Amino acid sequence: MLRPLPGGPKECICPMCGERVLEARGIPCRSKKCPKCGSYLIKSPLKRF
Ligand SMILES: [Zn+2]
Repeated sequence: MLRPLPGGPKECICPMCGERVLEARGIPCRSKKCPKCGSYLIKSPLKRF
């Protein structure tokens, strides 16, 4: 079970299709690809919600 990291939950989100992926430790979103469409992920702007 994953625990939320200090500073709040971290997610990567696909700007193309909206797929959300939990950010792996030490791996920036921009270096990961969406499992659905293959686009590079960006950080989810959780603070805006
Ligand atoms: Zn996608």
